[in-house]
Amino acid sequence: MTTTTTTSLTNLLNFDLPGLIAYCQELGEKPFRATQLFRWIHQRGATDFAQMTDLAKSLREKLTAQARIEGLKILTQQESRDGTIKWLFDVGDGNAVEAVFIPEDDRGTLCVSSQAGCAVGCRFCSTGHQGFSRNLTSGEIIAQLWFAEHFLRQHLQTSERVITNVVMMGMGEPLQNYSALVPALKIMLDDHGYGLSRRRVTVSTSGVVPMMERLGQDCPVALAVSLHAPNDALRDYLVPLNKKYPLAELLQTCEDYLQFAPRDFVTFEYCMLDGVNDQPEHAQQLIDLVRQYGNGKAWCKLNLIPFNPFPQSGLQRSSNAAVQRFAQLLTQAGIVTTVRKTRGDDIDAACGQLAGDVKDRTGAADRMAKQRTIRIHRTH
Ligand code: SF4
Repeated sequence: MTTTTTTSLTNLLNFDLPGLIAYCQELGEKPFRATQLFRWIHQRGATDFAQMTDLAKSLREKLTAQARIEGLKILTQQESRDGTIKWLFDVGDGNAVEAVFIPEDDRGTLCVSSQAGCAVGCRFCSTGHQGFSRNLTSGEIIAQLWFAEHFLRQHLQTSERVITNVVMMGMGEPLQNYSALVPALKIMLDDHGYGLSRRRVTVSTSGVVPMMERLGQDCPVALAVSLHAPNDALRDYLVPLNKKYPLAELLQTCEDYLQFAPRDFVTFEYCMLDGVNDQPEHAQQLIDLVRQYGNGKAWCKLNLIPFNPFPQSGLQRSSNAAVQRFAQLLTQAGIVTTVRKTRGDDIDAACGQLAGDVKDRTGAADRMAKQRTIRIHRTH
């Protein structure tokens, strides 16, 4: 796969199928030609129009003159002992983003980034500590899947699909880059693209309430919400977006999302922080909180994530005993609870460790350094 920089040409990775149809119409081509082209790009990983022998020669010539299929430049590729692979992609101007492939027996999951950096600034998140530089384009989001899928097929010498699930849990808050996110999701779901079911594509958000509502209308994929705290005081501190969209509003929006969701539950992510949010009283508050929604039904799942410490956070991972005790309390209350296996931590690919390389245009790094002196109380 080549990665040239012919920026004056239109990069076709930016188009979902309706977008590519419109583009081809401008070239005087019928919609079915766009579908053929789309399949060449996403199903076969083609970069060279000359390969596309079922397209008319005249169209191939037009495309060669005006368009390109250009992925992201790879800065590094690291493979963990457990088979996890992390790529660092150059997105220009000194910024880099990461994607991580996590192989399991019954699935292959790609964790995809949506922004260079992130403006939300969650305390336990390595990306958040880097500040925010810019949104990725739809093409830059899909390029991570496009590259990884076709690289892995070659690597594993298979023509079968390797990536069966995508989670928008890499760098960035996907719902703060909504207009680029949705076309990228549509390419993932398109039968002429990657053909992933809506159940196998998950958007993870820190709780951008208005955009969660829009996602339900525009492209209702599976939803994961970074909860991390059972009360507003603690969540204000850990996930600063909570000050704008507090828990009551967030959980009501999650419940409402279920009418559109491909699954009958929302997943809540909960990063286990030693002495901060992992005490039995926090578990009880969490149980009381989720019971206020869902009309008495089991409507959510809890995914407990062992924190991956990084030096600037000032936070520590909960002990295994604390995680198990917390999980047990939730389970006893009838809440389906899983503890996420830590994958790829020898290559810093585990959750919350994706730091990429970001030119911070928000000053978040300084701001957070000052705020780190704030004491976190054990119970809220
Ligand atoms: S956890 Fe997600 S939303 Fe929070 S700072 Fe990190 S990337 Fe941004």
